[in-house]
Amino acid sequence: MSGLLAETLGTRALMPETAETLIPERPTLPRLRDAASRCTACHLYKGATQTVFGEGTRKAQVMLVGEQPGDREDIEGEPFVGPAGKLLERALEEAGVSRGDVYLTNVVKHFKYEQRGKRRIHQRPNAEEIGACRPWLEAEVALVKPKVLVCLGATAAKTLLGQSFRVTKQRRELIESELAPFATATVIDPARAERRGPPPCLRRLRGRSASDRRGPRLACRPRRGRCGRRLGPSTSSGARRTCSSA
Ligand code: SF4
Repeated sequence: MSGLLAETLGTRALMPETAETLIPERPTLPRLRDAASRCTACHLYKGATQTVFGEGTRKAQVMLVGEQPGDREDIEGEPFVGPAGKLLERALEEAGVSRGDVYLTNVVKHFKYEQRGKRRIHQRPNAEEIGACRPWLEAEVALVKPKVLVCLGATAAKTLLGQSFRVTKQRRELIESELAPFATATVIDPARAERRGPPPCLRRLRGRSASDRRGPRLACRPRRGRCGRRLGPSTSSGARRTCSSA
């Protein structure tokens, strides 16, 4: 056995396959954050500065889930503080939603990158890494119980809404999910946001905060057929609901 192979197998033997065994028995967000800060369930912790756990309160009605922390987030230890975060913040601001009313997190909690000279270039996490990290995200969703779950990008959408989800075709649609009464996906595309403002699913939250007892306002209305009848989960025609303005 080569030294490298032995080293790889040895390291693997020490690493739990997923973070499942690290979830505290009586989880709270601070306990989860603390446990995740020591996670070694996959190899991504090795190259990263720190775990970037979710941010927000348990009372948040809206949960936004991205793919993974970026370079800036890795250094600062907070999600969505890099360029995409700035854009998201602007989008939320334009939508009249305060960042404090939203729970922000990522599918994978450590930054995956490739070093090119002085630059760290983002790398998409693979299925094994996503699977290893998934228990943290599941625990966050179970605690926050969001009314609205917004997946930002394809990785988050496929992880939470199913592998068959196609963000290019299905973004803005309301998807039947046991994770939240309203679940949808969008992309944060800087060029598009410059031209057209925040993604529609964020605009629809306008004017409602997490403390609003009526809940966040969703203008995503169930799709109606030509006869005016409601289409969607309450009918036998399928479980998909679609934004009326998509
Ligand atoms: Fe643990 Fe997730 Fe980090 Fe992997 S990416 S070490 S599973 S926290």
